[in-house]
Amino acid sequence: MSKSLVCACEDVTASEIEHAMTKGPCDIESIKRFTGFGTGMCQGKQCLNAVARLLEAKAPQKPAPEQLLAFTPRPPLFPTELSYWASASFDPALAPGGGVPGALDVTAPTLRPTAPIKSKAKIVIIGGGIMGLSLAWNLTLQGETDVVVLEQGYLCAGASGRNGGGIRAQWGTPTLITLARRSIELMQRFARDMGINVWFRQGGYLFLAKSDDVVRRIEKSARLHNQHGVPTEILTADAARDVVPELTMKGVKAAAWNPKDAVIFPWPFLWGYATQAQKRGVQVETFTRVQGFELSQGKVKKVITDRGDIECDTVVLAAGAWSAEIAKLAGVHLPNEPHRHEICSTEPLKPFLGPLVSVLDSGLYFSQSMRGEIVGGMGDPREPAGMNLGSTARFLTRYAQALTEQLPQAGAVKVLRQWSGPYDVTPDNSPILGKTPQLENLLHLSGFVGHGFMMAPAVTERMAKWMATGESDELFERFTLSRFAEGRLEREDMIIG
Ligand SMILES: Cc1cc2nc3c(=O)[nH]c(=O)nc-3n(C[C@H](O)[C@H](O)[C@H](O)COP(=O)(O)OP(=O)(O)OC[C@H]3O[C@@H](n4cnc5c(N)ncnc54)[C@H](O)[C@@H]3O)c2cc1C
Repeated sequence: MSKSLVCACEDVTASEIEHAMTKGPCDIESIKRFTGFGTGMCQGKQCLNAVARLLEAKAPQKPAPEQLLAFTPRPPLFPTELSYWASASFDPALAPGGGVPGALDVTAPTLRPTAPIKSKAKIVIIGGGIMGLSLAWNLTLQGETDVVVLEQGYLCAGASGRNGGGIRAQWGTPTLITLARRSIELMQRFARDMGINVWFRQGGYLFLAKSDDVVRRIEKSARLHNQHGVPTEILTADAARDVVPELTMKGVKAAAWNPKDAVIFPWPFLWGYATQAQKRGVQVETFTRVQGFELSQGKVKKVITDRGDIECDTVVLAAGAWSAEIAKLAGVHLPNEPHRHEICSTEPLKPFLGPLVSVLDSGLYFSQSMRGEIVGGMGDPREPAGMNLGSTARFLTRYAQALTEQLPQAGAVKVLRQWSGPYDVTPDNSPILGKTPQLENLLHLSGFVGHGFMMAPAVTERMAKWMATGESDELFERFTLSRFAEGRLEREDMIIG
């Protein structure tokens, strides 16, 4: 065991890097997400070379040069105070541009594993995000182990590796409240069940409302929460300041407060699900891209990938914001649209912020992670639909202005890195689940907008049971793709951003 420190900011040792190499793909991005190296103050400037050298010397399979490349650049180039960004200006009428590119080309042929892929499997899951991986794990609990998960990049390449880690039961419909409560239960015991620390912290969610319309919305949903066992309280602005004394409450009319909501660190969930599913026989194929389907007699017969074809009985499309483009390859139209959401993280501070705070009117949200960073983002009504993972100065400016209005002390805090991820947006903000009318062995598990991480444990528990037992479950009858053609929408309006 080498205790020599490789990443001094995040306390990552050489033996932890070597341990990560035994757990999964040996590319820099995957190792970063497994160990957290390079995510601290220096943003990898001091440790990246040492990790690349370790990979080259000790990885079970010699990595390709591309796998040793510096990870995706994360602006700003150096830690910059939020007050600096708050004093910049932006044109609110303009749509945000592309920004600094924020993703590797994960489909580069040199990143593709050379080992052959299975030619036949009972169930193929497309997408190795939280949905695909937690479904694979839950299928094994139902006795289904002939399962392959296909992921075009590294684990955490999609929205699941790019989100804010907020977990809340404060929803506007009974179904989402029930699912979120179950997910919170499962996430609370995830570390014990799956053997990996997920930095679960139950500090609550404080929703701030600035307009009469939003006040009415939080009051209505609080009544529903209470009927479903969620102890949400409506507070005056003064009472909300008792929850977080540092908040100015500027413009705030009322707040909704549930102390049982939580935040987590997303990355270890994916590794936990993947590792445990693999132990039970699931194959998780990273850097493997789905390129098409072979269809026959109203069914998907084969999934075509850049590493070969897989014959299968059932296909689950769990590719988040990429789902619509993949469905198109099978001739199926999904109404999902990708929308970029930007987010950033600051230098770590001593713990001071209990809850995740969100201003529902503007889409601002921020929380303090267990590592002390303030992690937050804000939706942009001008963001056009499209797959864009770039990062913009416009976002930092808008976010810093909104954040420092509510939390002035944050002005002195430095932003360490920013990134973005795709929301997978459906016309009614609710997911698409279950069968495809024309291709009944193509199942859907997508459309989770900005809340899929917290829904995944509970939804996939039910989906695995529904798939394995054939027992009916209203989730897979109500949230079907056919509801759009039937004009039967399932609207959810407690959406941030
Ligand atoms: C900025 C931001 C903040 C968010 N905050 C929260 C939050 O606080 N709480 C919360 O619950 N949710 C949050 N979300 C939403 C949440 O992250 C998503 O709903 C969830 O991660 C979706 O998981 P998924 O598995 O469906 O999709 P993803 O994680 O996107 O996984 C889909 C995977 O499919 C892969 N793929 C794509 N095309 C192919 C192909 N052709 N072949 C093979 N694989 C392919 C992609 O590489 C990707 O890894 C946030 C999202 C963003 C962007």
